[in-house]
Amino acid sequence: MSAKVWLVGAGPGDPELLTLKAVKALNQAQVVMIDDLVNPAVLEHCPGARVVPVGKRGGCRSTPQAFIHRLMLRYARQGKCVVRLKGGDPCIFGRGSEELDWLQAHGVEVEMVNGITAGLAGATHCGIPLTLRGVARGVTLVTAHTQDDSTLNWSALAQGGTTLVVYMGVAKLPEIRESLLAGGMPADMPVAMIENASLPQQRDCRSTLAAMQRDAMAFELKSPAILVIGEVAAAQQALALAVSA
Ligand code: SAH
Repeated sequence: MSAKVWLVGAGPGDPELLTLKAVKALNQAQVVMIDDLVNPAVLEHCPGARVVPVGKRGGCRSTPQAFIHRLMLRYARQGKCVVRLKGGDPCIFGRGSEELDWLQAHGVEVEMVNGITAGLAGATHCGIPLTLRGVARGVTLVTAHTQDDSTLNWSALAQGGTTLVVYMGVAKLPEIRESLLAGGMPADMPVAMIENASLPQQRDCRSTLAAMQRDAMAFELKSPAILVIGEVAAAQQALALAVSA
């Protein structure tokens, strides 16, 4: 039987932000391997499927990547229709391309389905336009967490003039703040810290580069959260979408 795996982005949390293509893949799925950050509500689209949790949140219980690879392959070779469901988009800090390469190298057909990444959803849900004519001519998505402890060129980011969207930044606020200040970003640069973007429990803490660590502590900011750093982060809520309950 031909083996096929769908690598599917489940979006940021609101189940209505699934794509039609993701729903179609879930409808056909016999096995769904699901990450921690995926809202289990999306499983209503695959009532008959076996659901295998393979989450690995930083610092918590973890499923090694090699194990996930082997498990996908095993199910695919059994002829099962496998959906590998990831939070946000599979290829934005999601290791989607590693899984795609590995499966293809083992002769498995793979189809990738985009999801709405948390940074885009978080900004939109609190009324922040990530690009804005005359204010922000671009947007840069970065992760504050690297497996090899390599560092980003924060000075370049501080001076790049684009909106910064930082993933996995909650535990790294002091380093991010110091690096951007040292790189020449103004201390009063607006910052938005958005927790649980697109979910009913979404919270949004507005601050500045200098104050963000202190304000995050007072706010008790928790992961998952994204940071939006740039002039646009001062945008007020007029654009904000209602978060559906
Ligand atoms: N592939 C995912 C990102 C995975 S990395 C995507 O495209 O969105 C995990 C990080 O994503 C978290 O540490 C957090 O920074 C961010 N994240 C994921 N879901 C989120 C949510 N609902 N609200 C805020 N941040 C979220």
